[in-house]
Amino acid sequence: MPAPGGFTLQRERLDELFAALHRRGYTVIGPTVRDEAIVYAEITGCAALPIGVTDEQDGGHYRLRRREDDALFGYNVGPHSWKRYQLPPEVTLWRARREGDGALSELAQEPPPQARYAFLGARSCELHAMGILDRVLLGGAHADPAGRARREDVLVVAVQCSQAGNTCFCASMGTGPTAESGYDLALTEVLEGASHYFVLDAGSDMGAELLGELSHAPASEAQQRAARAAHARAAAQMGRELDVSDIRDLLYRNYENPRWEQVAERCLSCGNCTMVCPTCFCTSVEDVTDLANEHVERHQRWDSCFTVDYSHIHGGAVRASTRARYRQWMTHKLATWIDQFGSSGCVGCGRCITWCPVGIDITEEARAIRESEEHEHAGA
Ligand code: SF4
Ligand code: SF4
Repeated sequence: MPAPGGFTLQRERLDELFAALHRRGYTVIGPTVRDEAIVYAEITGCAALPIGVTDEQDGGHYRLRRREDDALFGYNVGPHSWKRYQLPPEVTLWRARREGDGALSELAQEPPPQARYAFLGARSCELHAMGILDRVLLGGAHADPAGRARREDVLVVAVQCSQAGNTCFCASMGTGPTAESGYDLALTEVLEGASHYFVLDAGSDMGAELLGELSHAPASEAQQRAARAAHARAAAQMGRELDVSDIRDLLYRNYENPRWEQVAERCLSCGNCTMVCPTCFCTSVEDVTDLANEHVERHQRWDSCFTVDYSHIHGGAVRASTRARYRQWMTHKLATWIDQFGSSGCVGCGRCITWCPVGIDITEEARAIRESEEHEHAGA
């Protein structure tokens, strides 16, 4: 079994990885083009990858473009994240049937999911997001058994970013662009003239075992240098940054900052930012009965702290204004999350910026609050 280290795999051999995963019974989930976006879905081979496609991202802007080469991973994260496999958008929690005497006689818990997933193409920020969501969903004494089953057997093939998007800021969050752990196998795609290959590193025994089944070769010094240059290119291209120094206390000190009112004038409370965020985990439950009232199901669905209903408790909504809801979301991501779960809730993937219909930018909002304090101190 090869030890973890630098190896190469030629582009035309990448289907061997799919075959090795399928032999082990994995369903491979990876990037593919659908509805003019790069999404995560089941894929069975390289042909389904977004070959020669790249994306263009900015606040409220996402477009796919043709690349001048046939790169397989030449784009940044799209609207989907791996959250949809850790915490699916909709889950039936249980079903029950009413018997003749009126009692609920058949109460069946939904069985845990059966599929063994291999996530292909996870980026560094996404590996961090998966870890954060695991701490939320599976940490503590009351982990959901179905959630645990979903994560138990997942194999991760990471792809190192060789370019960064205009809304990316993982470098300033300390979550990328180069993945250092949390994967079984990591690929760096290199295109140099007619050469097209991957530099691979195994991050686990399973990854090393998989690597052993591929037509790999030791990476030369020049090939490893090319991979490192690709990682450095991504770090240098980072389109945004967020100054996280003292961020928790900065936000705690600024509950009444007038900036919350200004952002609320633009925010539509649509919840897009929470749907695309790889760590947002709000859900609600709904009981559904048939017309005869004999069959009932309880569904769990993604919800959003941007809806008025989400904060509705006896007597009304706790966060009735958009100002209160935006402040809650951003302060949770960057401050209260640290107290709750020991880390920031943001990994700097930039999705909330790209997919906000009015281009509200969490990095700009944090900067504006920091600058308003600095101005206040300068004027004092
Ligand atoms: S808050 Fe925005 S940038 Fe941060 S992890 Fe969520 S979607 Fe990504
Ligand atoms: S910040 Fe943007 S995406 Fe989020 S709720 Fe407001 S308008 Fe929608």
